[in-house]
Amino acid sequence: DDIILSVDNLHVSFKTYGGNVHAVRGVSFDLRKGETLAIVGESGCGKSVTSNAIMGLIPQPPGRISDGKVMFKDVNLTNMTKKELRKVQGVDISMIFQDPMTALNPTLTIGEQLMEGVLTHTKASKAEAKEKALAMLRLVGIPNPQERLKQYPHQFSGGMRQRIVIAIALICEPELLIADEPTTALDVTIQAQILELFEEIQAKTGVSIVLITHDLGVVAKIADRIAVMYAGKIIELGTKREIFYTPQHPYTQGLLNSVPRLDLIAEELQPIEGTPPDLFAPPKGCAFTARCPFAMEVCEHVHPDTTIKSATHRVDCWLQDKRAQAFLATAQK
Ligand code: SF4
Ligand code: MG
Repeated sequence: DDIILSVDNLHVSFKTYGGNVHAVRGVSFDLRKGETLAIVGESGCGKSVTSNAIMGLIPQPPGRISDGKVMFKDVNLTNMTKKELRKVQGVDISMIFQDPMTALNPTLTIGEQLMEGVLTHTKASKAEAKEKALAMLRLVGIPNPQERLKQYPHQFSGGMRQRIVIAIALICEPELLIADEPTTALDVTIQAQILELFEEIQAKTGVSIVLITHDLGVVAKIADRIAVMYAGKIIELGTKREIFYTPQHPYTQGLLNSVPRLDLIAEELQPIEGTPPDLFAPPKGCAFTARCPFAMEVCEHVHPDTTIKSATHRVDCWLQDKRAQAFLATAQK
C-alpha cells in the first residue's frame, strides 16, 4: 500500500468575535508516494486551513479540529501532542510558504539555516551536515555553493531565496512536502524554473507533494491529481486530465473557462460572478447554489451526495445524481 497521507472527513472551525467559522467541512483525500496533488480554489475556500491542519499548525484555540483525522502512514497526526508533532514537522513532513523572505532568518547564513535541521534531527557531525548542505544547494541549482553557504538571505535574489527555502525543506529528506502558493510571489520566468525544480526533485527523491494554489497554470504543469475546493469542501477530485478535459462540477467548469489548454502557464483563476457563501452560517445545501447557472430547487436545501465518475474522479453535484430528476418531477407537480 503506497498511500502516504490520508485525510478523512476533516472538519476545522475557528472561534471569532463574529461567531464560529466552519472553514473546513468534511475534507477527504489520499496521497500516494511520489504523487503531486494540487488543492485549488479561491481565497477563503479552506485550502490553506486544510494544509495547516495536516501540518498540525492550527492554533487551538481559536481553531479546532472538530472531526475527522489525518493519517500520515500509520500515525494519526490529529491525536499527537505538540512534542510528538515537532518530531514529524520538518523531518517527515515539510512545508513551504508563499513568501521566501519570511521563511528565512535574516541574521543567519544560508549554511547555518541549512545545517540546523540536520544537526537537530539527526546524529550527523558538523562536517557531515555541511556536506549535506552543499549537496542540497547543488540539487536546487545554486551556483558556487561553497561561497554561497557563508552568505545571508539578503544577498540572494527572490528566486534564489525560494530555492534555498526548498533546500531547507528537503534537507532532512521528508516523505511529504506541503507547498502553499510556493511560486505566487515570484515572476513568471522564475515560477517556471521553480516548478521544474519541484519536478526534478520529486523524480530524484520520490517525495509526495500537496500543492496549494489558486493558479491553474501551476496546476497544469505539475499536478498529477487535482482537488477543487469550494466553501470548505472538496467539490470535485480527479486526475489532471479528468479535471481539465471533463470537469463535471459547474464551479470547476467556471474556473476552467479561461484555461483552454493544459500547457498554459501563469493563468489566473477565472473570476466567477458572485461571492462564496458566508462560513459563519454554511448553507445546508450546495454552497454554490447562489452562483450556479444550473441550480435547481433541491440544490438549495439538500447537499448533493458524492457521485463516482471513475476510479479516480468524484464530484458533489445534483446534476450528476439520478435522483435529481425525481426531485425535479415532484417540484413540477
Ligand atoms: Fe449547481 Fe446544484 Fe450542482 Fe450545486 S448541486 S453545483 S447548485 S447544479
Ligand atoms: Mg492561502
